[in-house]
Amino acid sequence: MSTILGACHPDGEYVCGKRKVNEVEAAVVRRIMQEYILGRSPRAIAHDLNHEGVKGPQGKMWNPSTINGNWRRGTGILNNELYIGRLIWNRQRFIKDPMTGKRQSRMNPENEWVVEDVPSLAFVEAKLWDAVKKKQLEMRRKVTDPDTGKVHPKGARRTKHFLSGILKCSCCGGAYSIYGNGYACSNAKNQGTCDNHRILNKKKIEAIVLKGLKDNLMQPEYVEEFVNAFHDELNKLARRQDKKRILMEKELKKVDAETEKLIDAICSGVPAEKVKARMIELDNRSKELKQLLAVHPSSLPRLHPCLSTMYRDKVAALSDALMDDNGNAEAFNALRGLIKEARAIPTDKEPQIELYGELPALIKLANKNPTAKNSEVLVELVAGARYNLSPTFKFSA
Ligand SMILES: [Zn+2]
Repeated sequence: MSTILGACHPDGEYVCGKRKVNEVEAAVVRRIMQEYILGRSPRAIAHDLNHEGVKGPQGKMWNPSTINGNWRRGTGILNNELYIGRLIWNRQRFIKDPMTGKRQSRMNPENEWVVEDVPSLAFVEAKLWDAVKKKQLEMRRKVTDPDTGKVHPKGARRTKHFLSGILKCSCCGGAYSIYGNGYACSNAKNQGTCDNHRILNKKKIEAIVLKGLKDNLMQPEYVEEFVNAFHDELNKLARRQDKKRILMEKELKKVDAETEKLIDAICSGVPAEKVKARMIELDNRSKELKQLLAVHPSSLPRLHPCLSTMYRDKVAALSDALMDDNGNAEAFNALRGLIKEARAIPTDKEPQIELYGELPALIKLANKNPTAKNSEVLVELVAGARYNLSPTFKFSA
């Protein structure tokens, strides 16, 4: 929210002396703070603002996180000290995670912060600000253990759920997130911009998707067709990739045919001396070609004809592993990797789920022992293939 107008050049540099407060947006900030200290949740405040058509920061929709932010990092409407005329630099630094290459922020110690007082830009009174800080502390105490300072399990950041990020709302396209024991459209929950207020029972919906993964995504009749079409495609590719080999095979046939002819000629009375030189030449070339062809065996991957059966067995095993031990991260990730998207369609009765498979992952899992090198080719091929395998399928919960 650019409550301070003219504060930045497009390149992000601050322009001194040219900043002034955007009074319209400043009023929104004060309203948020006032409602918050009266006990309204950031979620409810965000809903109202979206309903009223009030634009959030960068013209986006309001979310609880836009308001809450992170009090330690000074982010979010409730924590921006610029509103009380304090401009803070060097609060955090960015480091690159050597494992993932992703940028991560780290807090700098408070004595390294650079604080600049800009009272002309303050538009939130100290009294209101202090009340917000007091309320935040109160809220934090509710979720942290006073003895250990640790977050209560209930308030703790939850681990990833099986369908988080995968399950989408068919009304607004937004993602479903976990609320209590169920998945719900986060746009409906957080922004109030979707009317789909159904909550899907977590256990039930996960079991249904797992069953769908096993029984519906690779139906044998589609798979057989796919395997055939895939192999046709593979052969085309092999021919393209190995033109040299094809040419060598053709030449070998020619060499053999000519040799046959010369033998026939000798049999029918042509003096062997006359064709001897050519015979030796052909014989040498034949040996050479055979050797070259032996070095280049065709090594492209093949799909197992019983793909769907093997797939089903593997998914069943993974599901069992997931059920036996909820911490089985390998099974969890392997199964999640098979799903491109699951769409929840609210109906009057039971919700319907539309499941979309991640084709390369499905094939890779099903195909028996593909070598590492070959499976890369395989996945690349499958990704490019447009066959009627793993189509969408709908089913009811
Ligand atoms: Zn929605």
